[in-house]
Amino acid sequence: MQDRPKSRNLARARCACGVVRIEMQSPAMWAWHDHTRASRHAHGAAAAVWVGTWKSRMRIVEGQDALSVWTDPKTGATRSFCSACGTPMLYERAHSPKAVNIPRAAFETGVGREPRYHVGFEERPPWAYREEAVKPLKGFPGVVWTGAGKRRSRPEDEDLF
Ligand SMILES: [Zn+2]
Repeated sequence: MQDRPKSRNLARARCACGVVRIEMQSPAMWAWHDHTRASRHAHGAAAAVWVGTWKSRMRIVEGQDALSVWTDPKTGATRSFCSACGTPMLYERAHSPKAVNIPRAAFETGVGREPRYHVGFEERPPWAYREEAVKPLKGFPGVVWTGAGKRRSRPEDEDLF
């Protein structure tokens, strides 16, 4: 019980396989949605949601050796991911050497901050879900869809095929 006040302020993240474990002092310093093409591509997702902090406020508890690092030759940013399961774990930008970003989705705990900022908002892809109304898809429990009549008419949609 003596450790309780201290541990209450620690946010914990891990990769999908659990080899890499990170602890961060909570609250996070910032949190943001990242719609940029670079992060979408690196995540294989419509957007990344990051929790940011200073490197001095976080530590890699386990799995440092399992982290593989890729440096983007265009920007100098580094992206570290678990070499065992591929989960993105750290995103460090060249212009902020003391800062680090960790995927919000990797946290098993709260982080003390909501992601209220959006970077690259204008870069959102036409195929990203944008809070359209959805309805159940008949015959597929648990699946919802926007319906055939709701096709979005964005020019880029046509380029996808
Ligand atoms: Zn892993």
